[in-house]
Amino acid sequence: MEEPIEQLTRREVLKGLGTATLGAAAWLTLRGTMDAAPNPQRRRVLRVAHLTDIHVAPEGNSVRGLLNCLKTVHELQPRPNLILVGGDVVSDVFAQNESRARVLFDLWMRLVKEHFEIPVRYCIGNHDVWGWDKSRSGCMGNEPKYGKKWIMDLYELEKPYYSFEQAGWKFIVLDSTFPHGDGYKGRLDDEQFEWLKGELQRTPAQMPILVLSHIPIVCACALFDGENEKSGDWVIPGAWVHIDARRIVELFYQHKNVKLCLSGHIHLYDRVVYNDVTYICDGAVSGRWWHGNYHQTPPGWGLIDLYDDGSFESEYRSYPYPIPTGG
Ligand SMILES: [Zn+2]
Repeated sequence: MEEPIEQLTRREVLKGLGTATLGAAAWLTLRGTMDAAPNPQRRRVLRVAHLTDIHVAPEGNSVRGLLNCLKTVHELQPRPNLILVGGDVVSDVFAQNESRARVLFDLWMRLVKEHFEIPVRYCIGNHDVWGWDKSRSGCMGNEPKYGKKWIMDLYELEKPYYSFEQAGWKFIVLDSTFPHGDGYKGRLDDEQFEWLKGELQRTPAQMPILVLSHIPIVCACALFDGENEKSGDWVIPGAWVHIDARRIVELFYQHKNVKLCLSGHIHLYDRVVYNDVTYICDGAVSGRWWHGNYHQTPPGWGLIDLYDDGSFESEYRSYPYPIPTGG
C-alpha cells in the first residue's frame, strides 16, 4: 500500500477493503477505523443510553440521583431508543439476607416500572447476585431464589447471558460473575464461552456486534481503582477485570465485526482500543457510590450512537448530581 491512508475517505477505505489482499486489508482496518474521517453517508440507526452501577437503596440519595439521571436521558434530543442497564442495580444483595434483598429488589423494580420510559435490556452485575457471600448473607445455597435466580426471574431471563438483534446490530449480553469461594471472579464459565463462540460464528460477517458485560474485558482505568500500586506493582485482581480476557480477546480477533464492548464495575470512565475493538468502561450512575465523583469521573452515563456502516460515536454524560444526604 503506497497511498497514504489519511487522503482516503472512510468510504474509499471500505471500498478498498473488498479488493485488497488479506494482509493489506488488516493493515487498512487498523489504520482506517481510528484515523479516517467518518463516512459522510453513514446513517445513525440507534441511540443507546448505557446506565451502569446504579446501586439503589432506600437510604441516602440514590433514588433522587437516578431520577435526575433518567431526566437527562429522557430529555435528550433525539431521545435514545434503548437503555442498556449494565448491572449492579442495587446497593448490594451479594452479602445480604433475604428480607434486605427483597427491599432492594422491590425498590429497583418499582423504579424501572414507574420511571423508565424507554425499552430496557439488562446485564447482571456482581452486586445483583443474591447471597453468594454465605457468611454474611446467611444463605445455605439451596434457597429457591439463591444466586442469579432472583434477578433472572425479575428480568424474565432464562439464562444470565443472551443476545438480540436491533437496527442491524447484534447485541451480546454476557454474565461476568463467576463463583470463587464466598466471592467471585470476572470470567465466563466454559458453557458460556462456547455459547459466545457459537453466537459469533452464527452472526453474519457484515453485521456489527456490540458486547455488553458488567466487568470489563479490557480496560485501563482499573489501574486507578483503590491505591493498588502501593506495593510497588500494579495489581489488577481477577474480580476487577475479566481474568479470562486473553481467550475472549483471541476469539474477538477472529471476528472483525466485534466493534464495541461496554462495561462498568470500576466506576471510572475510559475508552481503550485493542486489536481494533473499542472497550468503553462507562463510569457509574452512582459515581463514588453516591458520594460524588470517583477520582476524576463524575456520576454519569454513556451515550452511544450506532451507525449502519458498523461505526459508532460515544460520549460520557454527567447529570445534576444530588447533594449527599448521608446514609
Ligand atoms: Zn460490579
